[in-house]
Amino acid sequence: MKLVFLGPPGAGKGTLAVKAVVLLTVPHISTGNIFRAAIAAKSELGLKVKAIIDAGKLVDDETTVALVKDALGREDARNGYILDGFPRTIFQAEALAGFSAVDNVINFDLPDASVLERLGGRRTCRTCGANFHILFGKPKQDGVWDSCGGELYIRDDDRKEAIAERLEVYREQTAPLIDYYRKKRLLVDVDAGPAPEQVLESFRKNFGV
Ligand code: AMP
Repeated sequence: MKLVFLGPPGAGKGTLAVKAVVLLTVPHISTGNIFRAAIAAKSELGLKVKAIIDAGKLVDDETTVALVKDALGREDARNGYILDGFPRTIFQAEALAGFSAVDNVINFDLPDASVLERLGGRRTCRTCGANFHILFGKPKQDGVWDSCGGELYIRDDDRKEAIAERLEVYREQTAPLIDYYRKKRLLVDVDAGPAPEQVLESFRKNFGV
């Protein structure tokens, strides 16, 4: 199954994607994770995108589309994938349509007030990139991610100033994709408000997995 996870920052796309890829046995392709790994490795790509990402702005379409085209061309993505955080602009959606036919787009529906609350409490694992939310529980050991033992940190773009910019960017450049995909009859709305386990349950019901 070829799926796109669409929604505002903090809506739980990454959290659900990590569980859904196990059920669907497809790769999880998160452009945000790819960029953060490049930044951590101080690669040419990482050095190019760090300031843009820290400021909450979007990386340019050409760079981002090239990364995704490459990832979708790999053997493990032949039978499907979950694209998390891509496309984020109409340009990217048009480019994607040129090299892959998406089956469905999951729209993570979450009001702005909840987005702010979610991003403020998000912690990310430095080792495996998983997200953890202080709203939905506590790690067994403070500051340490239960699953892999990595250090939990607050992403630079989860800080106050960047959050406002990311929401603005989402409204202006990404939210138009909701109508774009609805018109193509690909959109499936999911209420992203409940706890992650319930969002996973709705996903399973929707897709029979
Ligand atoms: P995410 O982890 O999906 O919230 O992405 C973190 C940051 O990476 C975003 O705020 C952007 O700066 C950048 N990014 C991720 N995906 C894209 C994309 N599809 N287009 C442009 N920039 C992106």
